[in-house]
Amino acid sequence: MSSLKQEIAKRRTFGIISHPDAGKTTLTEKLLLFGGAIQEAGAVKSNKIKKTATSDFMEIERQRGISVATSVMGFDYKSKKINILDTPGHQDFAEDTYRTLTAVDSVIVVIDVAKGVETQTEKLVEVCRMRNTPIIVFINKLDREGKDAFDLLDEIESKLGLNICPLSWPIGMGQRFKGVYNLWEKQLKLYTEVNKQKIANSIEIENIEDPKMAEMVGDEAAATLVEELGLLQGVYDDFDRDTYLAGNLSPVFFGSALNNFGVQELLDCFIEIAPPPQPKDANGVMVKPDEDFFSGFVFKIHANMDPKHRDRLAFMKIVSGTFERNKNYKHTRIGKSMKFSNPTAFMASKKSVVDQAFPGDIIGLHDTGNFRIGDSVSEGPDLEFKGIPSFSPEHFRFINNADPMKAKQLNKGIDQLMDEGVAQLFTLESNNRKIIGTVGALQYEVIQYRLEHEYGAKCSYENYPAYKACWIESSDEAQLEEFSKLKYRYLARDKFDRLVFLADSSFSLSMAREKFDKIQFHFKSEF
Ligand code: GDP
Repeated sequence: MSSLKQEIAKRRTFGIISHPDAGKTTLTEKLLLFGGAIQEAGAVKSNKIKKTATSDFMEIERQRGISVATSVMGFDYKSKKINILDTPGHQDFAEDTYRTLTAVDSVIVVIDVAKGVETQTEKLVEVCRMRNTPIIVFINKLDREGKDAFDLLDEIESKLGLNICPLSWPIGMGQRFKGVYNLWEKQLKLYTEVNKQKIANSIEIENIEDPKMAEMVGDEAAATLVEELGLLQGVYDDFDRDTYLAGNLSPVFFGSALNNFGVQELLDCFIEIAPPPQPKDANGVMVKPDEDFFSGFVFKIHANMDPKHRDRLAFMKIVSGTFERNKNYKHTRIGKSMKFSNPTAFMASKKSVVDQAFPGDIIGLHDTGNFRIGDSVSEGPDLEFKGIPSFSPEHFRFINNADPMKAKQLNKGIDQLMDEGVAQLFTLESNNRKIIGTVGALQYEVIQYRLEHEYGAKCSYENYPAYKACWIESSDEAQLEEFSKLKYRYLARDKFDRLVFLADSSFSLSMAREKFDKIQFHFKSEF
């Protein structure tokens, strides 16, 4: 194998997703602990937005600081190079998570055994399913009372639309939690007070009817386990790696991240089955990781925390070839040749300058305003990687300049914040007024605060009563023109000059769709 192929085969780049509080941060930390990347618990900070006594702005800044530190956590484990991409749990930052999911090759979904499938889990899994991203499920907090395991699996299948296959099975839960039986390795792992503190040893039990089982967990629990595993066999398909890799089968693990329990099994199975870096679609051309040219795309932009230096860090996922420091590559959207003298790699929470990086790796590129989310860089053909859609925002407000002397600063600030993907900007066709669309109300505070502190500009908002933004297209010019005349007041352009209809109500939207049957109304910007 060439060295590029070896590097590719080593890499596993994935994201952990969950509804807030299910245990994403705890699991991330435990994976780093088992991977030897950190020495003690508590090193990974939660990037949750906490509404505390301190001002929200301070909280936003604190969160931004943590979020740059934990954006990517790389570590080596059993000769694999693992990259965990962090995703914000807060729903107001869901767009950020959707974009990060375009840069992963697989995901682990964390579900709280007591709460089951929650709203944010549903949304995030839907995004993964759109791209057939392979999914592993980790059911967490087995040390607490929760839902019956069979009921929970039913709920996962029906609410998340996943076809699942348990690879471990709990023996009791809460007070009666005895451990898990690992169907993947045919091993029993006991949960004891002692094991809570350290990594427990597994006991190999090939045959679950082995009397050793009853000795370890008691007659009743052993009998229940035999019965339940029998039931499982009747209901669920056997694990098949290809089906998992195609995104059509999700292995399920049980454990307790807080107590280090079930995490090792998850990690060991993960490195065996999870996909290495995958090919990526660039306008119809599949770019394979082992192409002889480097290519990559930007999925996240982070403003520097120091407002005096307005440079930014663009996070790039390498799709193909070998990236090298100080080599000239083409930024395909603007057609400019660029080289990067300080590309950053992320190992656990440390950053360091790298000379080389490979497919599956994430590098941070210092940027002075050339990059937008979704931009591609290539050493070979002029590629444009597909797959970073914007979704229709939920909130819309006019943004007004509150300091006439600072119009230039305001425009620049808005422009750059939109490049970062903080929110979406729409410009009304009729009068050029600017409307900011966001997924959550919190973003307006973020924008206002950052405009003032980073750009010295002041803004105010005014409600804009839109219901949804729809990207529209039509092959029927005449109908599009008729529609444009009728709906002139509701038409806007997005940042890429695409035509958007800001429907004022669900009623007017369905009327428009009925009347203009040759126009397609899209709820996301890529179609
Ligand atoms: P996130 O919002 O998904 O990142 O969740 P966190 O990792 O911050 O966890 C939320 C809360 O659940 C914290 O108080 C954790 O200590 C707790 N937690 C996480 N894993 C477990 C577990 O296995 N058992 C119990 N009892 N609590 C847990």
